[in-house]
Amino acid sequence: MIPLAVPNLNGNERKYLNQCIDTTFISSVGEFVNKIEELTAQACGTKYAVAMSSGTTALHLSLIGTRVSRDDIVIIPNFTFIATANAVSHCGAVPWVMDISPDSWTLDVSQLESELSLYTEKKNGGVYHIQSGRRVAAIMPVYTLGNIPDMDKLNEIAEYYGLPVVSDAAAAIGARYKNKNLGELAELTALSFNGNKTVTAGGGGAIAGNNKELMTKLKHLSTTARVTPEYDHDMVGYNYRMTNIQAAVGCAQLERVNELVSKKREIRAFYNSEFENLENVSLFPIPWYDESACWLSGIILNNNSKFNVRNLCNELKNNGIEARSFWKPISLQTPYKDCVKSSSLKVSENLWDKIITLPSSTTITSDELKYVAETVKRLVVDI
Ligand SMILES: *Cc1c(COP(=O)(O)O)cnc(C)c1O
Repeated sequence: MIPLAVPNLNGNERKYLNQCIDTTFISSVGEFVNKIEELTAQACGTKYAVAMSSGTTALHLSLIGTRVSRDDIVIIPNFTFIATANAVSHCGAVPWVMDISPDSWTLDVSQLESELSLYTEKKNGGVYHIQSGRRVAAIMPVYTLGNIPDMDKLNEIAEYYGLPVVSDAAAAIGARYKNKNLGELAELTALSFNGNKTVTAGGGGAIAGNNKELMTKLKHLSTTARVTPEYDHDMVGYNYRMTNIQAAVGCAQLERVNELVSKKREIRAFYNSEFENLENVSLFPIPWYDESACWLSGIILNNNSKFNVRNLCNELKNNGIEARSFWKPISLQTPYKDCVKSSSLKVSENLWDKIITLPSSTTITSDELKYVAETVKRLVVDI
């Protein structure tokens, strides 16, 4: 079976893991935890980064850091992994899902602008959703598959309403927007080092940012808000630490981040060149202002395709190829059926069940890529 996305462990992973065992530093302090924070900040173009136990906890703590609290609203795109919405819920807040732009699969900033102007009011120094009376506390764009939304426009809107921007860049390491690095576009940027991401630590995550005071507070909160070793704590903290074992793997990966991201882009370019003229199939979008990190690649099935996602995935599986459907929108998920919704979610609700992700591991060989492309073409073309 050619897998969808497996880790590439051909660097210093083994060596660094052995160092953890040899020194007995396997837990939440150790040189690799410090090192992964340095390497993450470097990769994001920020001054600081805090290592976290997962992408989800990185999102949760980022929202807490921007003072999102109980009963607030956080604006997120409808098309995202459920962890984005869950992090909002973990704050006791409610997501307001907005549609995505078809050209980027990221938050539709025109809709963001019109929804805010139609359905909110400024009062008491804040922005309030008129119908629910809830305070709108933050905007959390998602860098879908390593595509960054139009952040110039988005930040302009956020500034007008005085809303903080926290980005879900969970799968976007390596992405750039108009010559800016992914950590330079929001107050806080959350990353994931889950096993299926371009850079993995087995599991784990990080928050990147430039505000020293805030970043110090986030580190403090993520490590049980401990003031002294004498069991003295000054806030309700979290055990969201990354272990030195995770960080050891993550450091070995981050040393090769450019190589891993280049390989992801090569995979995208190869599939696109193979499928660009294929009938009933469209390509994943990349907006002109992005250098996408191309986390996963694949195809979109048009309406008149003889296949749906499920039966094409099954056919591919019968041919030794792992292919999968992609994110089901938040508005269609059971725990979020009553969340705040924008006036139209057409793009996300019509798109999601037409997407197929194809093998995109950085370890994939050119023969395997050719085999995948030939098999897809043979199956979808009517002869
Ligand atoms: C992977 C992912 C997450 C969650 O990260 P975990 O490390 O699995 O908690 C959140 N948001 C997006 C967009 C992701 O792709």
